[in-house]
Amino acid sequence: MLRIYDTRAGRIEEFPGGRAVRVYTCGPAVRRRAHVGDLRTYVLSDLIRRVLERRRTRVVVCRNLIDADSGSGGPDRGHEDVFRDDSAALNLRPPEHTPRAGEPAGLTIELIAKLVERGHAYAAPDGSVYFDVRTFPAYGEISGKRLDELEPADPHGRFHADWAMWRPADGEPGLDAPWGRGLPGPHVECSALSLRFLGERVDLHVGSADLLFPQHEEERAQSDAATGHEVVRHWVHGGRVLFDGHEMAGSAGDAGAAVPLSDVAAAGLDPLAVRLAFLEHHYRQPLDLTWDTLRAADRTVRRWRARVAEWSESPSAPMASSYAERVEAAFDDDLDTPAALRILRELEEDESVAAGSKFETFLHLDQVLALDLSTEIGKPRVLPAGAGELLDRRARARETSDWAAADRLRDELAELGVTVTDTPEGQSWAL
Ligand SMILES: [Zn+2]
Repeated sequence: MLRIYDTRAGRIEEFPGGRAVRVYTCGPAVRRRAHVGDLRTYVLSDLIRRVLERRRTRVVVCRNLIDADSGSGGPDRGHEDVFRDDSAALNLRPPEHTPRAGEPAGLTIELIAKLVERGHAYAAPDGSVYFDVRTFPAYGEISGKRLDELEPADPHGRFHADWAMWRPADGEPGLDAPWGRGLPGPHVECSALSLRFLGERVDLHVGSADLLFPQHEEERAQSDAATGHEVVRHWVHGGRVLFDGHEMAGSAGDAGAAVPLSDVAAAGLDPLAVRLAFLEHHYRQPLDLTWDTLRAADRTVRRWRARVAEWSESPSAPMASSYAERVEAAFDDDLDTPAALRILRELEEDESVAAGSKFETFLHLDQVLALDLSTEIGKPRVLPAGAGELLDRRARARETSDWAAADRLRDELAELGVTVTDTPEGQSWAL
């Protein structure tokens, strides 16, 4: 059974799953180009899906697309296309529902009207509609913030922490609502869309820790006040991502430090190196990505693919079940992918396990890891010019126990893009 950290409960909780699981993932803001940091949340959501699906649980995911703050400015379909390509490059299974914010248009108005009717929201004289946070005493349970500690969200509300769910449009394009022409506030969408597409019970809500406050507090208050019960069972938050120690574009980011996934591919690295680099770190830990981390992950992905291709030539053998069970137990243990990958490396090097068993085990686990480990099977492997001779020299150096020369030749081969691994059968190489 999956055990996962629930931010609101403040502890790891059991998640029995069941036949069908409903997951809501806070979507990307398509008003700017996505960078690799944004993608961590979606890899997390995909990982949860794959861990649950291997037990045949049906997972239904809704992920919105955030067009723009408060609806100003249109969506940038170009950024949306980039995000779709990035998702495919990272092997993210497409969500079942991908509503765009504001589509269908009436949803947020319907939700706000319901909140007004139930006494949880009020219209202000200027045409704004505020959530009346004092009617929702559970506010702050996800972030641990208390109402009396909060800075005023908006000077026009009745209470310092009330937030505007609706704003008058002031000449800009807007929607017609019972409170006049206007636009929904930025955090109403998620409540409205999750209630519309997943219903009144959401098993897991996945988002970046950056959105914990106030976004997710507001989302919870709106959804729960509208339905009269707790809508989200578990709140799951992924840690933030820096690149070379810098914040990337986003709420507090530096646009110059943002690395889009296309830069990773342009540097000659496999985009799935980014997926592996995420999996090498626990999802809740903040992560500082560097080019070195990505290059190391790229080498691992390529080496594993080459080894899977090699192992595919060996006599077939059953899966190494004790290894597979340990890896799956790590997945179930609050998605402990760093431990899972350590166990896989142990298996890779375990000389007592037949190559055919390694093959079966790696490919079985790749259903969750999604690193495309089978892609080199059957492909002719072509060494770059000069590499064959270096490999021969290295084999002779090893025969004569000239380890210094062997190490030097390994470095020279690495510069040509050839990774050498020493195995009991001699050296093997991967591109
Ligand atoms: Zn959201």
